[in-house]
Amino acid sequence: MIAKVEPLTTARALRGPFDYLMGDGLIADGVGVGSVLVVPFGPRRLLGVVVQLAETSDLDPKRLAEPIEALEADVPADLVRLGLWVAQEYVSTPARGLALVLPPGTGTGSGRRTKARESLAATLTTAGRAALEDGTRLGSRQRTGLEALTEGPLRVSDLARVSGCDHASVRRLEARGLLLVERTAEAPRRPTLRTVGARSAIGTLTPDQEAAVAQIIAKLPPTPEPAPQRGPSSGGGEVPEQRFPSGTGTSPAPRTTPPEQAAPEPLLLHGVTGSGKTEVYLQAVEEVLDRGQTAIVLVPEIGLTPQTAGRFVERFGDTVAVLHSQLTTRERYDEWARLRSGAARVAVGPRSAVFAPLENVGLIVVDEEHDGSYKQEGDPRYDARTVAERRARECGALLLAGSATPRPESVLRYDRVRLPQRVDGRPLPPVELVGMAGVKGPLHQRTRDALEEVRRAGEKAIVLLNRRGWSNFLTCGDCGRVWECPNCDVTLVLHKSAGRVSCHHCGHRERVPDSCPDCGSVSLARHGVGTEQLGVELERLMDPLPVFRLDADTATRGGAAEALERFEAAEGGVLVGTQMVAKGHDFPDVTLGVVVDADSTLRFPDFRSEERTFALVAQLAGRSGRGGSDGRVVVQALDPAAPALRFAAGHDADGFLDVELTRREALSYPPYGSLIRVVCSSEQPAPAKAAADALRALIRAAQIPVLGPAPLFRLKGNERFQLVVKATDRAAAIVAVRTAVERTVADRSLGPVKYAVDVDPQ
Ligand code: ADP
Ligand code: ZN
Ligand code: ZN
Repeated sequence: MIAKVEPLTTARALRGPFDYLMGDGLIADGVGVGSVLVVPFGPRRLLGVVVQLAETSDLDPKRLAEPIEALEADVPADLVRLGLWVAQEYVSTPARGLALVLPPGTGTGSGRRTKARESLAATLTTAGRAALEDGTRLGSRQRTGLEALTEGPLRVSDLARVSGCDHASVRRLEARGLLLVERTAEAPRRPTLRTVGARSAIGTLTPDQEAAVAQIIAKLPPTPEPAPQRGPSSGGGEVPEQRFPSGTGTSPAPRTTPPEQAAPEPLLLHGVTGSGKTEVYLQAVEEVLDRGQTAIVLVPEIGLTPQTAGRFVERFGDTVAVLHSQLTTRERYDEWARLRSGAARVAVGPRSAVFAPLENVGLIVVDEEHDGSYKQEGDPRYDARTVAERRARECGALLLAGSATPRPESVLRYDRVRLPQRVDGRPLPPVELVGMAGVKGPLHQRTRDALEEVRRAGEKAIVLLNRRGWSNFLTCGDCGRVWECPNCDVTLVLHKSAGRVSCHHCGHRERVPDSCPDCGSVSLARHGVGTEQLGVELERLMDPLPVFRLDADTATRGGAAEALERFEAAEGGVLVGTQMVAKGHDFPDVTLGVVVDADSTLRFPDFRSEERTFALVAQLAGRSGRGGSDGRVVVQALDPAAPALRFAAGHDADGFLDVELTRREALSYPPYGSLIRVVCSSEQPAPAKAAADALRALIRAAQIPVLGPAPLFRLKGNERFQLVVKATDRAAAIVAVRTAVERTVADRSLGPVKYAVDVDPQ
C-alpha cells in the first residue's frame, strides 16, 4: 500500500504529494487519508498528511521510504479535500491549506494529551504583538517564538520546541515585556465564556421568527443513512489524484464525490437589527441535532461578541464546542477532540471554525455575514463565507447566512428569508444626519444636545469614531514638517497617554516630540481627532457618567469583554470606540447612538467603501432603542447627502442594495465578476516592479485581463506594486494567476521578492 503524503513545509516550490511505502504496522493501525505522519524527507524528518492511498506507485517501490511513525492526530477525509481546495482557490500551498484542518497544536507537541501537572505557560503581551509588527530588533528564534504565541498561549517547553527559544531566551523576552510567563495547572478545562449582554431566555417565537424557522427547516437536508463505521478501512482512496504536474503548475481542482442528494440552495436570513436572528439559528440547530446531524455556527470575533456564542452554550450545554482565539492551544485541542469524537456536535467559533472536524453536518450558520473578520489576512487569504458555502455544498448541508446589512454577493445569489421587524415591535430608531462643514471641534451642536439629554436622564449612549489614538497627525507650525513613518509612507498617529506617536500599519513608534528636528520650533500642531481624545472630551461633557473606551488600544486580551461588561453593568454611561462598538451587541437600554465622521470610510478609494459605510452606520444605529427604551441616532458627516448615509438613515437596506448592485453590475465588480489582487514587494523598488511586470505578461498571455502594476505606498520598509485581475471567468483567472506566480517565484533572476495573492480582496 502506498500513502501519498503532503509534507507540511512552507516552501512554495515544493511539488507534493510524495509516495511512501506503508508497512503492515501502519496499515493495521488504520492509517488512511487524513492521518498525520512523521516521514523522512531527504536528511530531515517532516510532518505530513496522507492525502490519498494507492495500490501502486509510479516510482520503484524498492526505493520508497517508509514513514517513521503515525501521530494520534487524524483528520476527516472531507476536510483534507477542503484544505486542499482552499490552497488552490486562494493560490496558496497544499501545506498551508492542510494546516487549517489539522488538530490545534499539531507539530508543536501540545496537541498530545499529557498528564495534569504544573507547568509554565507563555502568553504574548500587547507589546510583544506590536514588536512583531514594528521592526523591533528580534533574534530569528525569538521572532519565531513570538509568532507562535500569536495563536494563543503555549507551554514554555512547547514554545522551545516550536521556535528553538530556550528557557533563557524566553526569560529575556519576558524581561523586555514582550511575553508573560505564568505557572498554570494543566488539568483539561472546558473554556468558560463571558456572556455579556445575553438576555434571559425568551418565551415564544414571534410570528415572523416562526415563519423564518419553518422556511429554514423545510430546506434542511434529509437525514442521511447512518454513517459507515470509521475504522482501519476508512478513507481508502477517497481523495483523488493530487500530484501537481511539475512545470505546468496547473494542478487540477480536487475532484469531489457528490453527496447522494444535491445540497440545498443557501439561504440568507435578512433581519433588521434586534429582530431575533439568534433565536432563529438556535431553533434551526436544535432541529438539526434532533435529526442526528451536526452544525457549525460561525460568528465574528468572539472577544467582541461573546453573547451569541454564550446563547448556544446556554441552550445546548456540552453539546457545543466553542473554538475561539483566546483559548490556549491545549484548550483548543480539547475542544477539537470533542468535536472529532462526536462528544460535541455543534461548533461555534470565528472563521477558523468552518474547519471544525464534524461529520454528518446538516447546517452551517454564518452570523453577521457582512463582517470583515471572515476574511483571513495572512496566507491563505481565505474567506470563511466562501469556504462555508463550499463545505455545505460538498457535504450536502444547508448554508444559512444572516445579517441586517447583508452583502450584495449574498443578496444576489441566495434565497432570502425576512425578519422585517424588531422582536419587541418597536420601530427602528430615527436617524438624524448632520453636516460638519464649518463646525469647530469633533461634535456638532445637535450631538452635544442629544448627549446632554442622555447625561441628564442618566441613560446610555454609544459613540462611534473609526479612528484610534489622540490625533491622526502632527505638523510643525513653523516649517510644515509632517511626522511620517520611516518604514511606511503614512503619517504617525499621536497616542497621548502612551506618550508616543505610532504607525498604525507597521507599529513603528517614537516618543512624542517636543520640538521640530528640522527647524527647532516648539509650536507643533495636532490635526484630527481619534477615540482617545474623544473619550477625554466625552468624560468632560458627560460628567458624572462613566465613559468606557473600546478600540484596538484598550481591547487587548480580555479588555474588550471587560469594557463591554462594565458598560452593561453601569446604570448610565457612554461607550466610545472604533467599529468594535457597532458589532452585534445587544444592550437593552441604549438610548442614543452617535457616529462621528461617518463618511471617513467613503473617502477610501475602494469599491466596497459604500457597502462598508452603509453597514457601519446601519449596524451602529441598530444598537440603539432595544428593549424597553426609545432610541435615537445622530450621524455626523462632511457630506450628509452621500447616498450610503441616506439609505442607512432611512434603514433602507433594500434601496441601498438595489443601487449598489446596479453600480456593481455596470462596473463588473463582485458579485458580477471576481477580483484577484497580487502584490509584489521588495526593499528596493526594482525587483518588485520587475516581478509585477513579469506576472502581468504571463497573466495577459493566458488571455486574462489585468490592471497595473500600480505602485502602492511603501509599507514596513517594502516598496510594493499591485496587479488587479477583474475577471468574469473566476476559475480560469485563478489558474492563470497561480501559474504565473509559480513561474515567477521560480525565476531566481528577479531577486528577493515577496508575493501576496488575494482572491476576493476586502
Ligand atoms: P439580532 O441578532 O436580530 O439583532 P438578537 O438575536 O440579538 O437580534 O435578539 C435581540 C433580543 O431579542 C435578544 O435580547 C433576544 O433575547 C430577544 N428575543 C429574541 N427573540 C425573542 C422573542 N421571540 N421574544 C422576546 N424576545 C426575543
Ligand atoms: Zn519645523
Ligand atoms: Zn509604518
